[in-house]
Amino acid sequence: MPPRARSAWFRTLGQLALVLAVATVAGLAIGRPWPVVTVAALGVVAWHYWRLRRVLLRLTARQRLAPPVGEGVWNELDRLLYRGQDEMRARKRRLIGMLRAYRAVAAALPDAVVVVERNSQRILWFNEAGLALLGLDPKHDVGAPLVARLQPLPLSHWLAGGRNAEPLETVSPLNPAVTLSLRLIPYSDDLWLLVARDVSRLLHLEQMRRDFVANVSHELRTPLTVVHGYLDMLDPAEHPEWAPMLAEMQRQSQRMTQLVEDLLTLSRLESQDNLPAEETIAMGAMLNTLKREALALSQHRHEISVEDSAGVDLWGSNKELHSAFSNLVSNAVRYTPAGGTIRIRLRNESPGSARGVVLEVVDSGYGIPAAHLPRITERFYRVSNSRSRESGGTGLGLAIVKHVLNLHQARLEISSEVGRGSTFSCHFGAERTRARDALGLALP
Ligand code: ADP
Repeated sequence: MPPRARSAWFRTLGQLALVLAVATVAGLAIGRPWPVVTVAALGVVAWHYWRLRRVLLRLTARQRLAPPVGEGVWNELDRLLYRGQDEMRARKRRLIGMLRAYRAVAAALPDAVVVVERNSQRILWFNEAGLALLGLDPKHDVGAPLVARLQPLPLSHWLAGGRNAEPLETVSPLNPAVTLSLRLIPYSDDLWLLVARDVSRLLHLEQMRRDFVANVSHELRTPLTVVHGYLDMLDPAEHPEWAPMLAEMQRQSQRMTQLVEDLLTLSRLESQDNLPAEETIAMGAMLNTLKREALALSQHRHEISVEDSAGVDLWGSNKELHSAFSNLVSNAVRYTPAGGTIRIRLRNESPGSARGVVLEVVDSGYGIPAAHLPRITERFYRVSNSRSRESGGTGLGLAIVKHVLNLHQARLEISSEVGRGSTFSCHFGAERTRARDALGLALP
């Protein structure tokens, strides 16, 4: 017991002893000790009940009562209760303040924030942007089912994804000119946060950037063809002193032409969400073509092999996939010193992972330091500028590969070790594979 409480306890015991002693002496003085002691004891009990009632009143009081004064066990109990209540009030005030601040922050957000109950998928709360972006109404929509309330939006399938739902881009239910990006954030076992952001401006800027690059590339095509044509007409034999200059000009104009072609390919790939025409791609023939191209590029400087252990074909765009695979093969040749090996392999996904096939280009070349891997597919990202330029690279090859694979719902995986080589694997889902018959011909 703390010293203050202990002294209050002993003081109360002392007071009781004093009252009983005084009552006994007074009773003896008048010759009737027991009735006097009994009356004194009843008085003490009554006083204790009265103090008990005061404690109850303090506990149930709505307004703040004055702090207790005096000593003794009841006053000490009162004091402790007063202190406890005071602390609780201060904590409550702090919590309410924090809650208000959080609500004010959430309400002031430019993005719509909707709290959804996970099991019933009902709306529990939303901020002011929820009104403007999603058309929610605070009077009727709290407690309403989310999917039914935001009817035109394709939400039911998306919500089923729960924690794994990818951000969804969709047209606003209020204004078809506005595009919303929806994100689902499960922040507790029972509650989800749906965040809707207006990305129309961003998309518009992105479209402007794409159009600009496509237009510039397109406009550059004609003058480049002219320059290229005239350069071809110039005969170095007529002016031998110009020969090195002409050769360099030809090399650079070819590089520019390749750059323009790659930029156009990239903007064409970026502007389409789906492949315009899909077909069965005979992978036997594709692997042979890739090998031929690798041999032509390598000029016998590398050992090149092709392996097909999957024995299936792919479904997609022959032209785009060929451009992606040949970019990987051309990189393998360009970034592998003479004497190295390059393997082009079509295999099934390793057992244990999802079904599907993998097209892999494995080289024993320079390799890529791990720090560069996360950014390697960005356009114009190069590990070494000089090596890329020397080898005739445009810096757009892997960006094209990534886009083509995205259009085929496939993914690119890169593993590499400096000085030992790199493996670029294109993983295709089972839905992208087609069986081949015994002769290696594609089955209808
Ligand atoms: P580039 O036209 O410069 O080759 P890419 O987009 O094809 O552009 O490749 C980006 C960069 O990735 C290259 O500059 C090179 O540094 C690195 N790279 C790509 N493939 C390989 C590879 N097989 N081995 C080593 N480095 C590679």
